Amino acid sequence: MKPDEFRKYAHELVEWMAGYMEHVEDYPVKSQVRPGEIFSKIPDHPPLNPEPFDALIRDLDSFIMPGITHWQSPNFFAYFPANVSPPSILAEMLISTLGAQCMIWETSPAAAELEEKVMIWLRDMIGLPGSFEGVIQDTASTSTLAAIITAREKATGFSFNETGKSDSGTLRVYCSEQTHSSVDKAVKISGIGRKNLVKIPVRDDFSLDPVKLREAIINDKKQGYIPVCVIATIGTTGTTAIDPIKSIGEICREHGIHLHVDAAMGGTALILPEFQWMLDGKEYIDSFVFNPHKWMFTNFDCSAYFVRDAGSLIRTFEILPEYLKTRTRGKVNDYRDWGVPLGRRFRALKLWSVIRSYGVEGLQSRVREHIRIASELKQMITQENDFEILAPVFLSVVCFRYCPAGIDEEQLNRINETLNHTLNDSGRIYLSHTVLGGKYTLRMVTAQTNVTLEHVRKAWVLIVETARSIGG
Ligand SMILES: *Cc1c(COP(=O)(O)O)cnc(C)c1O
Repeated sequence: MKPDEFRKYAHELVEWMAGYMEHVEDYPVKSQVRPGEIFSKIPDHPPLNPEPFDALIRDLDSFIMPGITHWQSPNFFAYFPANVSPPSILAEMLISTLGAQCMIWETSPAAAELEEKVMIWLRDMIGLPGSFEGVIQDTASTSTLAAIITAREKATGFSFNETGKSDSGTLRVYCSEQTHSSVDKAVKISGIGRKNLVKIPVRDDFSLDPVKLREAIINDKKQGYIPVCVIATIGTTGTTAIDPIKSIGEICREHGIHLHVDAAMGGTALILPEFQWMLDGKEYIDSFVFNPHKWMFTNFDCSAYFVRDAGSLIRTFEILPEYLKTRTRGKVNDYRDWGVPLGRRFRALKLWSVIRSYGVEGLQSRVREHIRIASELKQMITQENDFEILAPVFLSVVCFRYCPAGIDEEQLNRINETLNHTLNDSGRIYLSHTVLGGKYTLRMVTAQTNVTLEHVRKAWVLIVETARSIGG
């Protein structure tokens, strides 16, 4: 592609992008294609000769777009959001144009220093103590893996990395029954083993029960196990339950255990002073992750990982082959030593763009509005006798089900599953589900960048009508 052509298509695509953003609500939210449908439309062999870019745009419109689920639609209420925003998209364009690979300071000093600074901004915005240092990772899964491996190394005097085993006994990790599956994955990969992940029961509000945690740890120590890490969650994936950081932290301190906090979604709410209570006990936290790529309007991927002791993290991950030796080592941050990958994108640029374009107050008012919409939705649900709320509403997630009188639990589960699929197949809204205490639960997240109370009101009317037409 010649420079003139690039310019022409780039302008065309910007029009395409702006049009998409304006009309995203017109698409079916959840893609309606069947398995294999898109695959069969793509040629079996690559072209031998160059094709014009127009052909690609044509195919994009004709058979790729129907296979897209529209995460940026304000009628997307499923999972957790993967919000984008115009300032973040513009920064992504710059990031891919520069194409800098930011593994060490020398490979782009601006990337390393901007990352260092925006992570300080972010740390202060969410109220973590000034002793924390941050690094951008691709996902919360990677951040939590880094935390568990660091905890493993701290507990074994940094010997596991060398010998591939723990000399003093079997290591154990603790989290609640509601903790995200990325922790299961991390204990598998870290060599600690899934059998040594202890799932602690939760209380009525689905938060980790610290009394049960203490019992489990004391019991394990009696049997010779070595507790190395506890994962507490601020905003669990199922219901956004908030684990009690302070009580958990006191137990960790008492037994010398690393406390990692997973706030992948909930962390964004910490920019609001009225939600700082969720960090009560922050003096006990060793590492903390939250994803601006979920609820803070920053394009996927951008996960903010903070540690109290960067030395332990670096000692766990550093490598120094000859070809990466530099004259600046020790004076600057070489982020390749702060996690798993060597190569790194210039992700700080989009975070910088988002924070500057919204301003802290702009971000706060958007997030506050999302939380208000969730509590309004809760009111709407509470007013209907044939619906019930199934978990406390703390942030922007509402868990509920349709429960007309005189129907047994098994059938209620079937009705709600049908309701979920019927709504999603309609293409008008997209919800996801979880199971709480054996109950099939609909889960509606009101945190999409452009969602308004009006979208949620309309969605609610659709849910009620659909539920009652499915009947009991
Ligand atoms: C989404 C989520 C994760 C995983 O996030 P990735 O960035 O996709 O790895 C982990 N923990 C919680 C609580 C989450 O909500």
